[in-house]
Amino acid sequence: MATISTSRWTKRGLAVTVALAAGLSAAGAAEPDLAARLDLLVGAYPESLSGVEGNRLVFRDGGPPLEIDDGKAKDHQAALAAGDVEDSLRQLYPLGACDGKPAVDDDPGRIRSDALMMRLYGKSAKAVAADLVAVDWFGETLRVTKRQGAAAALEKVRDALAEKPELKRYLAPSAGTFNWRKVSGAPNMSVHSFGAAIDLNTKFADYWVWSGGKPGRVPKYANKYPLEIVEIFERYGFVWGGRWYHYDTMHFEYRPELIAIAKAAGASACR
Ligand SMILES: [Zn+2]
Repeated sequence: MATISTSRWTKRGLAVTVALAAGLSAAGAAEPDLAARLDLLVGAYPESLSGVEGNRLVFRDGGPPLEIDDGKAKDHQAALAAGDVEDSLRQLYPLGACDGKPAVDDDPGRIRSDALMMRLYGKSAKAVAADLVAVDWFGETLRVTKRQGAAAALEKVRDALAEKPELKRYLAPSAGTFNWRKVSGAPNMSVHSFGAAIDLNTKFADYWVWSGGKPGRVPKYANKYPLEIVEIFERYGFVWGGRWYHYDTMHFEYRPELIAIAKAAGASACR
């Protein structure tokens, strides 16, 4: 089962992703296949995941395993609306202090499995809220999930950013962390629902919806956040919405599996 889904995925998903994302492959680094990406996913969430059995993710809590690949062919909008675990790992996230220009529908991290996120963080606003902790953020107190090490990672981000006082105006006031809601105009859950995302100061934000974009067709923009901020968030497991074709430049979310896969692939935004 896993072998079948890997080969189909490699031919369709990875080949398309690599073709779309110009300049991503690193010298000598092999692109991780689905099996390798799943290993990195399990390693990124040791609190909840214990392994892979065939086409299913296995959880430490003994709850029902979760299907990895539903076998359905999906275009980009369908994958955004109803991504499975395999879909969520398909697009390579590129790392580094460069902003690049994502190709149409290159949205690494925007495809998520709601089912997996709910298993990692909680199935309802109430369940997620029970695990929120206070994180000091440049004079504010933010509520962030302690699950999966997210709040601890954000504290490391904050400590690294605090060494550069000239960045503070971009970081605060934060436009928010926990908010149980769907993605704007979409059927899937925002990572803000799980208390594992942060929006920076909106004053510098560009967002494809505010720019009058339509899915698959969004206006150009010029990023206004210093890229050293991006590099620091990535160092501690967060991906940046500024890397998405459907951009959201104030948005960072905790996706350590995508950072681990990016490192394994040598995926750089600086080529
Ligand atoms: Zn956001």
